[in-house]
Amino acid sequence: MLIIGPPGSGKGTQAERISGRLGIVAVSTGDIFRANVKRGTPLGLVARKYMDAGDFVPDNVTNNMVRERLQETDVHDGFMLDGYPRTVDQVDYLDRILAAGGQKLNAVLQLTADNEELVGRMLHRAKETARSDDNETVIRHRLDLYHEQTGAVVEQYERRGILTQVHGIGSIEQVTTRIFDSFDCLVQAS
Ligand code: AMP
Repeated sequence: MLIIGPPGSGKGTQAERISGRLGIVAVSTGDIFRANVKRGTPLGLVARKYMDAGDFVPDNVTNNMVRERLQETDVHDGFMLDGYPRTVDQVDYLDRILAAGGQKLNAVLQLTADNEELVGRMLHRAKETARSDDNETVIRHRLDLYHEQTGAVVEQYERRGILTQVHGIGSIEQVTTRIFDSFDCLVQAS
Protein backbone atom coordinates (compact mmCIF):
# COMPACT_ATOMS: atom_id res chain seq x y z
CA MET A 1 0.00 0.00 0.00
CA LEU A 2 0.90 3.66 -0.29
CA ILE A 3 0.55 6.59 2.07
CA ILE A 4 0.34 10.03 0.47
CA GLY A 5 0.03 13.33 2.27
CA PRO A 6 1.29 16.89 2.24
CA PRO A 7 4.50 17.72 4.09
CA GLY A 8 3.82 17.98 7.81
CA SER A 9 0.71 15.78 7.70
CA GLY A 10 2.36 13.14 9.90
CA LYS A 11 2.47 10.50 7.19
CA GLY A 12 5.85 9.15 8.39
CA THR A 13 4.52 8.65 11.91
CA GLN A 14 1.31 7.02 10.66
CA ALA A 15 3.22 4.86 8.17
CA GLU A 16 5.29 3.42 11.04
CA ARG A 17 2.21 2.74 13.13
CA ILE A 18 0.15 1.17 10.34
CA SER A 19 2.97 -0.95 8.98
CA GLY A 20 3.81 -2.10 12.53
CA ARG A 21 0.25 -3.24 13.13
CA LEU A 22 -0.09 -4.87 9.72
CA GLY A 23 3.32 -6.52 10.00
CA ILE A 24 4.66 -5.03 6.78
CA VAL A 25 7.73 -2.89 6.15
CA ALA A 26 7.43 0.89 5.81
CA VAL A 27 9.68 2.36 3.13
CA SER A 28 10.08 6.14 3.26
CA THR A 29 11.90 7.77 0.34
CA GLY A 30 12.50 10.90 2.48
CA ASP A 31 14.16 8.76 5.19
CA ILE A 32 16.34 6.94 2.64
CA PHE A 33 17.46 10.27 1.17
CA ARG A 34 18.16 11.72 4.64
CA ALA A 35 20.19 8.63 5.62
CA ASN A 36 22.25 9.00 2.44
CA VAL A 37 22.81 12.71 3.06
CA LYS A 38 24.00 11.89 6.59
CA ARG A 39 26.43 9.23 5.36
CA GLY A 40 27.67 11.52 2.58
CA THR A 41 27.05 8.91 -0.15
CA PRO A 42 27.03 9.93 -3.84
CA LEU A 43 23.21 9.64 -3.78
CA GLY A 44 23.11 11.84 -0.68
CA LEU A 45 25.27 14.48 -2.34
CA VAL A 46 22.90 14.65 -5.31
CA ALA A 47 19.74 14.59 -3.19
CA ARG A 48 20.84 17.19 -0.69
CA LYS A 49 20.68 20.26 -2.90
CA TYR A 50 17.13 19.44 -3.99
CA MET A 51 15.98 18.62 -0.47
CA ASP A 52 17.43 21.77 1.05
CA ALA A 53 15.57 23.84 -1.56
CA GLY A 54 12.34 21.91 -0.97
CA ASP A 55 12.42 20.58 -4.55
CA PHE A 56 11.77 17.03 -5.65
CA VAL A 57 14.83 14.91 -6.27
CA PRO A 58 14.74 14.14 -10.05
CA ASP A 59 12.50 11.25 -11.04
CA ASN A 60 15.27 9.11 -12.55
CA VAL A 61 17.31 9.25 -9.32
CA THR A 62 14.29 8.56 -7.11
CA ASN A 63 12.87 5.82 -9.34
CA ASN A 64 16.17 3.90 -9.43
CA MET A 65 16.51 4.14 -5.67
CA VAL A 66 12.97 2.80 -5.13
CA ARG A 67 13.47 -0.01 -7.65
CA GLU A 68 16.59 -1.15 -5.80
CA ARG A 69 14.89 -0.91 -2.41
CA LEU A 70 11.91 -2.97 -3.60
CA GLN A 71 14.23 -5.73 -4.75
CA GLU A 72 15.27 -6.45 -1.14
CA THR A 73 13.80 -9.55 0.46
CA ASP A 74 12.06 -7.87 3.43
CA VAL A 75 9.39 -6.34 1.15
CA HIS A 76 8.43 -9.50 -0.74
CA ASP A 77 5.33 -10.09 1.37
CA GLY A 78 4.09 -6.51 1.28
CA PHE A 79 5.15 -2.98 2.08
CA MET A 80 3.91 0.50 2.73
CA LEU A 81 5.55 3.19 0.61
CA ASP A 82 5.69 6.59 2.30
CA GLY A 83 6.43 9.61 0.09
CA TYR A 84 6.49 7.80 -3.25
CA PRO A 85 5.11 8.21 -5.89
CA ARG A 86 4.90 12.00 -5.90
CA THR A 87 4.74 12.60 -9.67
CA VAL A 88 2.81 10.99 -12.52
CA ASP A 89 6.10 9.69 -13.95
CA GLN A 90 6.75 7.95 -10.63
CA VAL A 91 3.25 6.40 -10.72
CA ASP A 92 4.05 4.88 -14.12
CA TYR A 93 7.42 3.68 -12.92
CA LEU A 94 5.96 2.06 -9.82
CA ASP A 95 3.36 0.30 -11.98
CA ARG A 96 6.21 -1.20 -14.01
CA ILE A 97 8.20 -2.27 -10.91
CA LEU A 98 5.13 -3.95 -9.42
CA ALA A 99 4.13 -5.65 -12.68
CA ALA A 100 7.66 -7.01 -13.09
CA GLY A 101 7.52 -8.44 -9.55
CA GLY A 102 4.00 -9.86 -9.98
CA GLN A 103 2.72 -7.50 -7.26
CA LYS A 104 -0.18 -5.05 -7.18
CA LEU A 105 -1.33 -2.14 -5.05
CA ASN A 106 -4.15 -2.96 -2.64
CA ALA A 107 -4.76 0.46 -1.14
CA VAL A 108 -3.68 4.10 -1.31
CA LEU A 109 -4.23 6.19 1.77
CA GLN A 110 -4.20 9.99 1.51
CA LEU A 111 -3.91 12.14 4.61
CA THR A 112 -5.58 15.51 4.09
CA ALA A 113 -4.95 18.76 5.96
CA ASP A 114 -5.35 22.50 5.63
CA ASN A 115 -2.23 24.34 4.38
CA GLU A 116 -2.00 26.91 7.20
CA GLU A 117 -2.36 24.20 9.82
CA LEU A 118 0.53 22.36 8.16
CA VAL A 119 2.77 25.45 8.02
CA GLY A 120 2.21 25.96 11.76
CA ARG A 121 3.00 22.33 12.52
CA MET A 122 6.18 22.34 10.48
CA LEU A 123 7.46 25.58 11.97
CA HIS A 124 6.92 23.99 15.37
CA ARG A 125 8.79 20.84 14.23
CA ALA A 126 11.63 23.04 12.98
CA LYS A 127 12.24 24.21 16.54
CA GLU A 128 12.52 20.62 17.79
CA THR A 129 14.47 18.95 14.99
CA ALA A 130 17.28 20.13 12.80
CA ARG A 131 15.65 19.39 9.44
CA SER A 132 17.30 21.73 6.96
CA ASP A 133 14.10 21.92 4.88
CA ASP A 134 11.85 23.19 7.70
CA ASN A 135 11.98 26.97 7.21
CA GLU A 136 8.93 28.95 6.11
CA THR A 137 9.96 29.71 2.50
CA VAL A 138 10.97 26.11 1.86
CA ILE A 139 7.89 24.78 3.70
CA ARG A 140 5.54 26.84 1.48
CA HIS A 141 7.41 25.75 -1.63
CA ARG A 142 7.10 22.07 -0.61
CA LEU A 143 3.36 22.53 -0.07
CA ASP A 144 2.97 24.20 -3.48
CA LEU A 145 4.84 21.32 -5.15
CA TYR A 146 2.64 18.81 -3.36
CA HIS A 147 -0.53 20.43 -4.69
CA GLU A 148 0.88 20.99 -8.19
CA GLN A 149 2.44 17.58 -8.73
CA THR A 150 0.93 15.13 -6.30
CA GLY A 151 -2.68 16.15 -6.97
CA ALA A 152 -2.47 14.33 -10.31
CA VAL A 153 -1.06 11.26 -8.56
CA VAL A 154 -4.02 11.15 -6.19
CA GLU A 155 -6.45 11.55 -9.12
CA GLN A 156 -4.96 8.51 -10.84
CA TYR A 157 -5.48 6.30 -7.81
CA GLU A 158 -8.95 7.72 -7.27
CA ARG A 159 -9.85 6.70 -10.85
CA ARG A 160 -8.55 3.20 -10.12
CA GLY A 161 -10.90 3.03 -7.12
CA ILE A 162 -8.19 2.27 -4.54
CA LEU A 163 -7.96 5.68 -2.81
CA THR A 164 -9.03 6.26 0.79
CA GLN A 165 -8.89 9.80 2.23
CA VAL A 166 -8.47 10.41 5.94
CA HIS A 167 -8.35 13.77 7.71
CA GLY A 168 -4.83 14.11 9.14
CA ILE A 169 -5.39 16.77 11.80
CA GLY A 170 -5.83 15.57 15.38
CA SER A 171 -3.72 13.62 17.85
CA ILE A 172 -1.51 10.83 16.51
CA GLU A 173 -3.84 8.27 18.12
CA GLN A 174 -7.00 9.89 16.70
CA VAL A 175 -5.60 9.84 13.18
CA THR A 176 -4.46 6.20 13.53
CA THR A 177 -7.96 5.26 14.72
CA ARG A 178 -9.53 7.06 11.75
CA ILE A 179 -7.20 5.21 9.38
CA PHE A 180 -8.06 1.78 10.81
CA ASP A 181 -11.78 2.64 10.80
CA SER A 182 -11.51 3.49 7.11
CA PHE A 183 -9.73 0.17 6.48
CA ASP A 184 -12.60 -1.65 8.23
CA CYS A 185 -15.02 0.11 5.87
CA LEU A 186 -12.90 -0.97 2.91
CA VAL A 187 -12.82 -4.60 4.05
CA GLN A 188 -16.60 -4.59 4.70
CA ALA A 189 -17.29 -3.04 1.31
CA SER A 190 -15.17 -5.57 -0.60
P1 AMP B 1 9.63 13.74 3.04
O1 AMP B 1 10.35 13.30 4.26
O2 AMP B 1 8.75 12.65 2.46
O3 AMP B 1 8.91 15.05 3.20
O4 AMP B 1 10.76 14.00 1.92
C1 AMP B 1 11.78 14.95 2.12
C2 AMP B 1 12.38 15.39 0.79
O5 AMP B 1 12.95 14.24 0.11
C3 AMP B 1 11.39 15.96 -0.22
O6 AMP B 1 11.14 17.34 0.01
C4 AMP B 1 12.15 15.73 -1.53
O7 AMP B 1 13.22 16.64 -1.69
C5 AMP B 1 12.76 14.36 -1.29
N1 AMP B 1 11.84 13.28 -1.72
C6 AMP B 1 11.25 12.33 -0.94
N2 AMP B 1 10.48 11.52 -1.67
C7 AMP B 1 10.57 11.96 -2.96
C8 AMP B 1 9.99 11.55 -4.19
N3 AMP B 1 9.13 10.53 -4.24
N4 AMP B 1 10.32 12.24 -5.30
C9 AMP B 1 11.19 13.27 -5.28
N5 AMP B 1 11.75 13.73 -4.14
C10 AMP B 1 11.46 13.08 -2.99
